[in-house]
Amino acid sequence: MAKGEFWNEPIQTGPLPDSNSEFDCIVVGGGPGGAAAASYLAMGGKKVLLIEKGVWPRDKVCGDAVGGKSLGHVKALGVKMRLESTPHFRVTGIVFSSPNGSEVTVPLPEEDVQKMEAGYSLPRQQFDWILFERASELVQENGGSVIQGATVTQVHDEGGVVTGVEIGIGGKRGEKRNYSAPWTIGAGGYQCPVARKVVKELAEEELVDKMHYCGGYREYWDGVKGCEGDAGNIEIHFVDSIIPGYFWLFPLGGGRVNVGIGMVLGLMDKQKKKLRPLQADVIANHPSFKERFANATMVEGTGKGWQLPFGSPRKGEKNQPRRAYAPGALLIGDAASLVDPFSGEGVGNALVSGEIAARHVMENVGGIDYQNELWAALGPELTNSYKMQKMSRRKWLLNWFVGKAGRKPVIQEMMTEMIASKEAQENLHSKWFLVKTLLF
Ligand SMILES: Cc1cc2nc3c(=O)[nH]c(=O)nc-3n(C[C@H](O)[C@H](O)[C@H](O)COP(=O)(O)OP(=O)(O)OC[C@H]3O[C@@H](n4cnc5c(N)ncnc54)[C@H](O)[C@@H]3O)c2cc1C
Repeated sequence: MAKGEFWNEPIQTGPLPDSNSEFDCIVVGGGPGGAAAASYLAMGGKKVLLIEKGVWPRDKVCGDAVGGKSLGHVKALGVKMRLESTPHFRVTGIVFSSPNGSEVTVPLPEEDVQKMEAGYSLPRQQFDWILFERASELVQENGGSVIQGATVTQVHDEGGVVTGVEIGIGGKRGEKRNYSAPWTIGAGGYQCPVARKVVKELAEEELVDKMHYCGGYREYWDGVKGCEGDAGNIEIHFVDSIIPGYFWLFPLGGGRVNVGIGMVLGLMDKQKKKLRPLQADVIANHPSFKERFANATMVEGTGKGWQLPFGSPRKGEKNQPRRAYAPGALLIGDAASLVDPFSGEGVGNALVSGEIAARHVMENVGGIDYQNELWAALGPELTNSYKMQKMSRRKWLLNWFVGKAGRKPVIQEMMTEMIASKEAQENLHSKWFLVKTLLF
């Protein structure tokens, strides 16, 4: 570990609370969603129990891009300066390429980044460490407890009302402890035990719909040509052999790059594709990339896959995108299936939903009101992104769109706004605006 790399050190989380202790709210999972929810609750004076099965420092498989939506929360939680004091890559543009090799660069200029908050990329080990440490501090200051290295093994309910959890420490035969609270927030990612309880067991609804789930695979590389420096473009490539998925290069600064690939699980199964060999093939053989990787090396042990539960609207589902509540429980982030179905970004929506859920707990509301507020905040954007994802499965459309965008600055401007500014998303709801921009 290099000197000053505090994010590679352990986090002190205090003593394990006695079994049968009671809290105002239990938060299961200490990723960005759980850390944010626990922090907001503690800032509101609530006694919180935050439980994380990993032990810091810990990694999370991700593309590592932190979009603008996250930055407001990072600031509200009091860690923006700290985050920016650690090494990161300032994103000043996004390169998109289509299967026929056309390219467009969507600029995210510095002054607009300030105004619209476009974001940066940095390893999740770093990002999550900073958020979790802050949450630990706030939770303990407000009379709560933080546990790491313990897995939630059961979610208790009494007559359909979620009442608390059981944790297991030290493997299957290890010690069990129980905790209770009037509210439990499920922030355990795509395998969250609270989501299983709320969606599958209590409501008897479908938890995993493979047409709305994505497989993702990432590796860290050093020395990829064109990815040097601490500011510049991140890259999204719609490569022929990977459609209906995409290949990304997200520099992290200091010459390191997050290289990955993602594809909707249902489509992957149909086409019998596997992500790791697909990525290896692009790196070794694709005319645009083999040159760039010629002198690059993969960081050993970093090739890992994970799943992304998309927030695309489900046909015929009353609770969009998927049920996120039961009496006494709310789901956030990946546990609520909120990842953007086009870009694959989920950190921002985990933070947004963490704040909304914390507010519902503090006001003792929850239920369908929580679901409605969640969908009102995120639904329009998630619906747009789903449309774009479906469009991006068609090679000719991608070739046409990227070719056109490469030649027309007005389309590049529209894309800049779309990515960096929430208000500009409104324009996308206007079909006339889109037709006008694309055709004329
Ligand atoms: C390959 C890939 C690339 C991605 N790229 C990007 C990107 O570039 N930008 C972006 O914004 N998003 C990206 N995402 C999505 C993003 O990683 C997630 O949306 C985000 O991590 C969701 O945060 P969360 O807090 O909801 O869940 P998580 O980050 O998954 O955190 C859940 C936490 O809960 C803990 N946990 C799980 N089960 C239990 C249990 N039983 N008991 C206790 N604790 C438990 C886990 O250890 C974990 O720490 C990517 C995802 C993948 C897989």
